[in-house]
Amino acid sequence: MWEWVWEGIRQGIVTTGYPARAETAAGVSPGFPSGLPRTFTDPEEAETLAACCPSEALVREGRQVIFRDQRCIHCYRCLRRIAPPQEWRWQGNYEWAVSPRPRAELAKKFDKSFRRSLHLRVIDAGACGACLSEIEQLNKPYYNMHRLGFFLTPTPRDADLLLVAGPVTEHMRLPLLKAYEAMPAPKAVLALGACAIYGGVFGSSFASLGGVSSLIPVDILVPGCPPPPLAILHALLALVGRAEPHRCESIASPQGGESHV
Ligand code: SF4
Ligand code: SF4
Repeated sequence: MWEWVWEGIRQGIVTTGYPARAETAAGVSPGFPSGLPRTFTDPEEAETLAACCPSEALVREGRQVIFRDQRCIHCYRCLRRIAPPQEWRWQGNYEWAVSPRPRAELAKKFDKSFRRSLHLRVIDAGACGACLSEIEQLNKPYYNMHRLGFFLTPTPRDADLLLVAGPVTEHMRLPLLKAYEAMPAPKAVLALGACAIYGGVFGSSFASLGGVSSLIPVDILVPGCPPPPLAILHALLALVGRAEPHRCESIASPQGGESHV
């Protein structure tokens, strides 16, 4: 016991410096392919690259391959199978939050009083467990979201934000809807991970709705499978006007296309 206490004192503060400082520790993000869109001289090469992606995150358009981050599940097939590492660039950042709402509309949702006090209700709408494990990390000393004014609440009646993981199984359709309706205004919805965005590896079926936006309005999305804790923090900070989200015109759909919002 004393050894652990002494080790803690010796190491000092180990909590991440994000958002004041960029996090540079190894392994904090699974990353995304970068350097896309990329134009190939041979259309066959473009086709081979796009065809190796199981989630249609890589799409061929003529001789070009484009990347759709909302669909990526970090399987690394494009990295391992196609291009030698020196030709294939990978970016390990984590500020991935995207919003289908215009910046001004999102900023109006929560006024200044929410900047350091936002309460989150987490809903497991059929997640595999990995997204939930990343959320759990936010409550631990390394990411420590309390220092930034974000808190979990067990009831939607106290919640400002509904954080949803999973493709929304048929069994969770009604509980999710009831939780959303029970929240007081102003309220927002965060779709966490590929499943909550478009159904991810589960897609849509008799048992799955294929994403949160098919049931309730979504304010912000965090791509990834699972998204790392820093990407979730980026979305939370963006919701209260302390970070800039990326803008998306559409949300990925289970059919492989995108639905406009
Ligand atoms: S990591 Fe996998 S899912 Fe993501 S773009 Fe590459 S092949 Fe597609
Ligand atoms: S997005 Fe990936 S990690 Fe998250 S629930 Fe779906 S399959 Fe699991």
